[in-house]
Parts: sequence; C-alpha cells; structure tokens
Amino acid sequence: MRISEIYEKKSKTLSFEIFPPKKDRELENIDETLSVLCELKPDFISVTFGAGGSSNCNRTIELAKKIKYEYNVEPVVHLTCLSYDRAEIDEFSRVLNAEGIQNVLALRGDRNPNIEEKDDFKHASDLIAYLKAKNRFCIAGACYPECHPESENRVTEMMHLRGKVNAGAELLLSQLFFDNDCFFRFVEDCRIAGIFVPVIPGIMPVINAAQIKRMVTMCGASFPARFQKIIDRYEDNKDALFDAGMSYALSQIIDLLTSDIDGIHLYTMNNPTVARKICEGIRNVI
Ligand code: FAD
Repeated sequence: MRISEIYEKKSKTLSFEIFPPKKDRELENIDETLSVLCELKPDFISVTFGAGGSSNCNRTIELAKKIKYEYNVEPVVHLTCLSYDRAEIDEFSRVLNAEGIQNVLALRGDRNPNIEEKDDFKHASDLIAYLKAKNRFCIAGACYPECHPESENRVTEMMHLRGKVNAGAELLLSQLFFDNDCFFRFVEDCRIAGIFVPVIPGIMPVINAAQIKRMVTMCGASFPARFQKIIDRYEDNKDALFDAGMSYALSQIIDLLTSDIDGIHLYTMNNPTVARKICEGIRNVI
C-alpha cells in the first residue's frame, strides 16, 4: 500500500524508523526487534540507507522485504542520491519494483569526504523528480523544523522544501527535535509557503546521552532548558536517564497528538523496549 493512502484514511498515524544491521549475518537477529515493533501495529516502518556502497542498499532492501512479507507491515525504503548516478538509481528502482516495494523516502544524503559524489543528483528534489517520472512510488521527503545545517536561512529552506513537494513528495518526515514549539512554527511556515502535504514529526527518545549529543551535533536540534536539565542531571546514571528521557519523549508526543498533527514517526534506534514503552504510554490517546 502507498503510505499516502494511509494518511488519507487516518487522522493520525504511528510509524517507526529502524536501521539495517551492519553485518549480513546480524540480519537474522533482527527478528527479535521486528517481532516486537510489528506487534505494536505501526502504520509503516521506514528503513535507513547507509551513505554509499551496494551492500548498504542490499541490506536496506532485504530488511524492507522482511517487514513487508514476513510481518505484513508496510515498509518505506530510504534512498540517498549524492553518490549514485542515474543508472544506479534505475537499478535500485528496478529491484524495488520487482519486490513490490511502493514507498521511498528520497534523500540527498550527507556529504562525506570519503565517498565520491556523482553529478546526476545534486538535491533531493532532483531524485524525487527523477523517480516520479519513471515509477509509481509514493515518495516522502525529509524536512528540518530547525533548518538543515547547510541552509542559509529559513526562507530559502522553505523555498527548497516547496521545490521538493512540487517535484512529487507526498509527505514529509521530520528531523528529530526536542522543542515542540519549533515544530508547530515550522508546520505553520510550511502552510504559509503553500506546502499542504502531511508533515510528520520525528521523535527520538533519549536513552543514551553520548548518542544523543552526537546526533544533535550532527543535526542541529536545540535542547530546551527542561530537556537540558535531564541530560545534565542524569547523563551518568543510565537507568535514571532512561526513565527521564522516556518521560520527556512521551510528554512531547502527547503534546503533539493533542495538537493538529498528522502522526508520529518514532526513531526507535532498533530498540524494541523503547518503542513498546512509548506505545503503552499513548495507547489510549492516538
Ligand atoms: P536536500 O533536500 O537536498 O537539502 C539539503 C540542503 O540543500 C538543504 O540546506 C536545502 O535547503 C538545500 N537545497 C535543497 N534543494 C536545493 C536547491 N534546489 N538549490 C539549492 N539548495 C537546495 N541520511 C542517510 O544517509 N541515510 C538515511 O537513511 C537518512 N534518513 C533520514 C531520514 C530523515 C527523516 C531525515 C530528516 C534525514 C535523513 N538522512 C539520512 C539525513 C539526510 O540525508 C541529510 O540531512 C542530508 O544532509 C540532506 O538530505 P535531504 O534529502 O534533506 O537534502
């Protein structure tokens, strides 16, 4: 099923993001995680894509197939384009079509000095337009409530985001953030800019301080004071950080759900306990 159809039918969705294991043999152990995640009945699960290298995309597709055919949940395959040419994207699309995978999150990908960039696709919108012209995928794009780190300002960022939607993105999945007001302002700006597709907030519960700091240095999300206090007080106390981080994420999600948003996309970090606890906390509100 195309996930755009899910958004047409449901007022609020719940979805998860997972990443493929680094080694092929670990793919066999992912069932433990998947069985818990899929029991929670997400509307879809998106599978990340490593930057560059065919073994990366193979593992992403293998995992997406598993989700679709063994667990009967709709997968969304992430696909980056900076280090691929048209022929490689065509081959990737061919495999997706052959496997019956209908949903793609089309991304530019981060710049990496160790991976060669090719000339065919400079921006995610180039990939979206290309995929759209040749396939029947439902295409999602990424968005950044606190601006992409390379953006000059919010106005040009919005123009480029509108370009992505005009090229064919049917929904937008957001970068993680910890301040809901940023997200609400961002959605308002999207609507003012004429972007009317669903904008789904990405939430990542904090369970590991080192990991979250790394993520935030990379993606530029700001820490509200209430959240910073949790990090400062509990970063050296694993169990306390888990409890406080889960509680913060839950309160963020409930605030989003009580506002007029289209769904929640949970960055699970392949941790089924986190996903289960979040789902238990919102069972009666979503
Ligand atoms: P773009 O939309 O191309 O934007 C990148 C920058 O270029 C922005 O500053 C934008 O304003 C600017 N820009 C866009 N269009 C134009 C234009 N026409 N002219 C000039 N400037 C322009 N990375 C991975 O490697 N694998 C993953 O699986 C992955 N999953 C992700 C999932 C989500 C939900 C998100 C939010 C990000 C994900 N990323 C992933 C990270 C993503 O690849 C990076 O953030 C990357 O730097 C930008 O990708 P993009 O698709 O947003 O790029």
